[in-house]
Amino acid sequence: MRKRFFRAATVSIVAGLLIAFVFAVPLMQQVYTDEMRERLDAVLVLAEEIETSDGELQEKVAHLGERLREEDSSIRLTVLDAQGTVLADSEADAENMESHAARPEVEAAIETGSGQDIRKSATTGSRQMYAARRIISAEGDVRVIRASVSLGGIREVEGTLWLCGGVGIFMGLVVALISAHYAAGRVVEPLQSLTDAARAMADGGAPDIVEGAPDEMGELAGAFNRMAGRLAAAHEELAGTNDRLAGILQGMDDGVVAVDAGGGIVLMTHRVRELLGDCPATAKRLPECGSNYISVGEMLDRVRRQGGSVRDILYLAREERIVQVYAARVSDADGGALAVISDITRLRKLEQMRSDFVANVTHELKTPLTSIRGYIELLKSGERDAETTRSFYEIIEIEAERLQKLTDDLLQLSEIEHAAPESEVPLSSLAETVGRAAETLGPEAEARHIGLRLFIPPDLQVRAHPRRLYQLMKNLMENGIKYNREGGILNVSAAVERSAVVIRVHDTGIGIPPEHQDRIFERFYRVDKGRSRELGGTGLGLSIVKHIVGLYGGDVGVASEPGVGTTFTVRFPMG
Ligand code: ADP
Repeated sequence: MRKRFFRAATVSIVAGLLIAFVFAVPLMQQVYTDEMRERLDAVLVLAEEIETSDGELQEKVAHLGERLREEDSSIRLTVLDAQGTVLADSEADAENMESHAARPEVEAAIETGSGQDIRKSATTGSRQMYAARRIISAEGDVRVIRASVSLGGIREVEGTLWLCGGVGIFMGLVVALISAHYAAGRVVEPLQSLTDAARAMADGGAPDIVEGAPDEMGELAGAFNRMAGRLAAAHEELAGTNDRLAGILQGMDDGVVAVDAGGGIVLMTHRVRELLGDCPATAKRLPECGSNYISVGEMLDRVRRQGGSVRDILYLAREERIVQVYAARVSDADGGALAVISDITRLRKLEQMRSDFVANVTHELKTPLTSIRGYIELLKSGERDAETTRSFYEIIEIEAERLQKLTDDLLQLSEIEHAAPESEVPLSSLAETVGRAAETLGPEAEARHIGLRLFIPPDLQVRAHPRRLYQLMKNLMENGIKYNREGGILNVSAAVERSAVVIRVHDTGIGIPPEHQDRIFERFYRVDKGRSRELGGTGLGLSIVKHIVGLYGGDVGVASEPGVGTTFTVRFPMG
């Protein structure tokens, strides 16, 4: 850039000087010859007097030539007659000189009165200018006066002119170099910094502020700085928006994975890895991430090629997870595709639980109803003795009670599940609640000779509704009696442990095998269906316990050893 600048400046200055010079030289020549011509004319006017004045012609001519030499005019004078014969000459002997009749200026002067010519002199060999004039002498003869001057001086002038030109060109070059240096400083350097800053911007870096003098370059630098500032602000805004979007995507409960038009991964949120399993950071395409990713990759391939959207359910056997994948093309122009992966395991389980529940309720209701209808049919079908009739009625009554208990438990469960959160949960006396439950269950315990032992601090209070706390304690204690052995013990104790009220219901009964312990809180789950039914159980008691405890932010657990006994531990947070 700088070199080009120097070259352009030098070429234009030298070319300008040369052009000026080429025009100046002919002009100078013209001016010089005009000047000489005027001088010759002036000398001829002077010389006219020679012929008209008295005296020897040769002497007068020599005298005038002398005068002119003194004035440094170096003009030669010649007087000729009408035949071209030299009569007198200021610088040579006229008698030795040849006839001048053929000289163009002499011919013209004789014919027209005056003549001029420029040519190489046969006498001196240099370029001469000649001017001739016809006059009439005092004697009445035709005479020609000729003045001539050497044009050799013009060579000197030309030489000086060329010298001046050369010096001018040299000076011009020096000036060009100096001014180009300064101009480069003012133009090239700011341009260079602009170029550097633009390059830095193109490479993705932050450009430096470009300095510029208060001229056009300065304006350009200012405009560049403003543009760089705007770009930086826009870039920052874009980065902020991207961060926010990435934050939103990463924070989503659903996983998002996007691929470009060639199927390469462009985005994969953490949630995708949580749902489908880890994917190595080096993986470029989905199938490289592992077996769970293959189907998602195929769905994305399909929508990339065909457009539209697809939805599918994937059962991830090893993780026991069910995910729903929704894949769609990002846009026709982009050609990439996006998949949203949602974990529907819980949803599916809930759906399953609901349909199981409906099936269970139907079954639980149907059994006693079938029994009741059957016995009614039997009673209607014929005469029975009083004993049989009474036993039939008793069975019908038991089944009706079972139905009653079932519907009561179902209603309780539903009421707890739909209970609105209480703004002010009352405190209930645990000793009083457990005492009431023990009173209700007393006859049953007594019938099976089970010893009831209560260790409840009298002032211990639980933040739970009295009615619900009663339901909870009654269910646990009832199970402790139902599944106890004849003559066993039921211990109910409570204490404050680490800011929680901990209630333990311990029995010395049949116990619960380990594989069932996790499931006994499910609705209608029973370890031994026949035994539970026989004992009047509905399979809902522990489910109700779990729901009540959950309602007040507590938890319930079980520890049991088959044949030894079971301990249920309930924790209620204090306060
Ligand atoms: P149920 O009405 O059948 O008693 P629950 O929900 O109260 O229903 O209990 C579920 C199952 O858990 C019972 O059927 C029984 O198998 C088992 N179970 C509950 N409490 C005890 C216990 N104290 N000892 C042994 N097994 C128990």
